[in-house]
Amino acid sequence: MDLHEFQFKKAFGQNFLKEKKVIHNIVDKANIAENSLVIEIGPGAGALTQELVKKASFVLAYEIDERLKEPLKEKFQHEENIQFIFDDFLKRNIKEDIQGFSYENLYVIANLPYYITTPIITKVIEEKLNINKLVVMVQKEVGDRFAAKPSSREYNSLTVYLNYYFDIHKLFFVSKNAFIPKPNVDSVVVELKRKTNLMQLNDENLFFKLVKDSFQYKRKNLKNNLKGYDLDIIENVLGAYGLSLQARAEQLSLEIFVAISNALA
Ligand code: SAM
Repeated sequence: MDLHEFQFKKAFGQNFLKEKKVIHNIVDKANIAENSLVIEIGPGAGALTQELVKKASFVLAYEIDERLKEPLKEKFQHEENIQFIFDDFLKRNIKEDIQGFSYENLYVIANLPYYITTPIITKVIEEKLNINKLVVMVQKEVGDRFAAKPSSREYNSLTVYLNYYFDIHKLFFVSKNAFIPKPNVDSVVVELKRKTNLMQLNDENLFFKLVKDSFQYKRKNLKNNLKGYDLDIIENVLGAYGLSLQARAEQLSLEIFVAISNALA
């Protein structure tokens, strides 16, 4: 496929990888185990896909842009361990899509369309797909948020939400020059490895609502953001950690959020 002829669609977040070194680095770092099903979201012209098919038992790739159907089918006509689904990943029932496959490890490996990074990751979590790990390229600022520590500027509800499920590591930085067309932002490849021992939650929905509400107004303290909750109970838990209702959400570790949520449930 001649990328110089292709009309890239900004609305689909189309920034294709042109640096072979970056592609190899993603696949090396992903360290794909035997008997693995790899889900790729947005194969584009197939640059990353081409390396994934060499390492994975099977690759299931979702591409929204129908114009890529023919070039992708042609490029991979001799590969037997790949299936393309030309549809919007966010609209699919992924559980149904993968139910016919047998595998021991399930991965998401992708250079994500940046305009929907959070919805994609949220979908993967909410559908309870039992993904072992995600190795994804995201906008650098987003990667910083995923891996942020409490009390840092980047720490937010998404950080807490993701760190509940995953051990998160930034693997390597990728310059905007590695893409065609060149985006406005740099990127980072992040690994999200599913935790084997999740912290016990009495009420998962309450936990996520509590986290979201705590961060609702960034400048407000917990007392103001959590007006609808039993503040006496929350104050008690905070006290055990040397904090008060004057604290702001960004000061609270995952452990404290879990403790508050369990005390309320
Ligand atoms: N993997 C290719 C690469 O690294 O060169 C392309 C990555 S590009 C950042 C993102 C790709 O995701 C594009 O091919 C775009 O058409 C596709 N895409 C965007 N939104 C999508 C969606 N909702 N579902 C599936 N694919 C999508």
